[in-house]
Amino acid sequence: MVAMSSTAASLYDRVRRVIPPIEWPAFSDDIDAILALKRERNAVILAHNYQTPEIFHCVADIVGDSLALARKAMTVDADVIVLAGVHFMAETAKLLNPDKTVLIPDMEAGCSLADSVTAEDVRLMRQRYPGVPIVTYVNTSAAVKAESDICCTSGNALAVVESLGAPRVIMLPDEYLAKNIAARTEVEIIAWKGHCEVHERFTAADIRELREAHSGVTVLAHPECPPEVVAEADFAGSTAAMSDYVGRHKPARVVLMTECSMSDNVAVEHPEVEFIRPCNLCPHMKRITLANIRSALKHNRHVVTIDESVALRARLAVERMLAV
Ligand code: SF4
Repeated sequence: MVAMSSTAASLYDRVRRVIPPIEWPAFSDDIDAILALKRERNAVILAHNYQTPEIFHCVADIVGDSLALARKAMTVDADVIVLAGVHFMAETAKLLNPDKTVLIPDMEAGCSLADSVTAEDVRLMRQRYPGVPIVTYVNTSAAVKAESDICCTSGNALAVVESLGAPRVIMLPDEYLAKNIAARTEVEIIAWKGHCEVHERFTAADIRELREAHSGVTVLAHPECPPEVVAEADFAGSTAAMSDYVGRHKPARVVLMTECSMSDNVAVEHPEVEFIRPCNLCPHMKRITLANIRSALKHNRHVVTIDESVALRARLAVERMLAV
């Protein structure tokens, strides 16, 4: 094995269960450089649960789901935030940290949900359903958030919808999240047709096959999965809720119906749990690498900016969510 620095060597202990030793030398140089650049620039790295383990466990300062990243982004004492995730997450971090420099390592790191709806679409929905409050999932652009009344995440969507005290609510853009929430509330939900390209591919038949092949397996599903998948699962919740479920219940065998890196990241913390891993990769999340995080810090790119008139209104929608 190639020699590695002592910093990288100590970090390898965290990920040895999910990264083979032969692969580690390819990461250690970038990791050492990123740790040095973070100190130099007084920077922090926020990493979503779908980031690969060498990012999630070795260079990130704050990890979690969209809600956790949005919340913790507000408390960081740093000049620079690097968002290891997709573009709408970087915009959300910028909304909540207008005075900090927010960088995203690859501007093309998008999201099929965020791309499924525009600000103009939201304005048309408001005209079509006058007086009906509009809840936008955090997986949307700042321009879309600016047109909405309040944001939500998969973790707090039910609480947000019910906090409005309205008989009917529009939920954009994830059709399946909207339907999964509709099944749990008396509030009438008007949905949009957006889908997450990762979660829409899971089927109820996949779960039945998994149960046959792996007896006693506990199935956890993300609420962006189709309703029939959620119905077949033992538990449905945000990435944070799934991780919490594994920690509290410690199932002997578990499968997470979500993005591939999530299982790797949770498995690191729970060596006693067997993870069955049929999963779907998010090509957008996978655009973020150690190499482009290093480059982002070194060359100060790509700086996330939001037009101030949009930012003011979008920030309001996010802050209303955080107050629920
Ligand atoms: S996993 Fe789905 S919702 Fe998350 S960034 Fe990828 S496409 Fe968007």
